[in-house]
Amino acid sequence: MSILTVENLRKVYSTRFGGNQVEALKNVNFSVDEGEYVAIMGESGSGKTTLLKTIARIIKPIGGAISLSGENVSRMNGSRYAKEVSAVLTDRISLDNCTAWDVVAMGRNPHTGFFGSLTAEDRRRVRESLEACDAWMLRDRLFHRLSDGQKQKVLIARGLCQSTPVLLLDEPTSHLDIFYKMEVLQTLRTQCVREGKTVICTLHEPDLAVKCCDRLVLVKGDRILACGDTGQIVQSRAMEELYGFSGRQFDPVLGLAEFPAAGGKDVFLAGAEE
Ligand code: ADP
Ligand code: MG
Repeated sequence: MSILTVENLRKVYSTRFGGNQVEALKNVNFSVDEGEYVAIMGESGSGKTTLLKTIARIIKPIGGAISLSGENVSRMNGSRYAKEVSAVLTDRISLDNCTAWDVVAMGRNPHTGFFGSLTAEDRRRVRESLEACDAWMLRDRLFHRLSDGQKQKVLIARGLCQSTPVLLLDEPTSHLDIFYKMEVLQTLRTQCVREGKTVICTLHEPDLAVKCCDRLVLVKGDRILACGDTGQIVQSRAMEELYGFSGRQFDPVLGLAEFPAAGGKDVFLAGAEE
């Protein structure tokens, strides 16, 4: 069943001093099923962050509709929406002098009362979220002194701690080494499989997306080039079109990219069975 539906979404940015307008999203349509792990992919500037921020209601579209379980999200009030959708974005807010535990506890804001005091249940959720991201040992460390990978784990834990059915993440693997990338993607996979969460993230690694995501949404220019099950997208060779790979530059099954020949000689290989 569809949990999120995006219909004819359009966003135009006005540039400063009345210059040209930038059409970031043009009639974007796609839907996501409950519990799916979705990667939004596309070259830089194609509108992925705009799409996520529009779904997160951080920016307003100029046209189209976003529905959550059939309900238009523009009609939901902010506190209710914060219990349905959490977002881990790349905009870095200042979190100086907060411990990792404090940062994750902020995720409970939509659930705490007027004074924001945490109940035993809230504290349990903070602990569970830190543990799910393998970050419990970081709980007393100052957030601004953590490494990029450790910060990313803590921010994802904060997103989990909001206890929403839908989790949006903008580039959760950027600036991380391969070990952290895989750990983050595995944590998100576990959330889908064990907790039934719907995870929608932007990714820049076709090889990892092909291996771990259920559905791919490919954004090219200001529109959706393809959207569907990972297997179907791989078969359709849309990934090559997305990144402009030609010939054998990309193995869609393994998600491996190859460098084009640097020029020069052809090599003839002969082999025989033993
Ligand atoms: P991506 O995340 O795929 O790199 P973005 O959504 O950040 O793409 O940007 C899509 C397009 O919108 C780009 O051309 C970008 O320059 C433009 N854009 C993004 N944010 C703004 C903004 N606040 N004002 C004007 N143009 C913007
Ligand atoms: Mg972006």
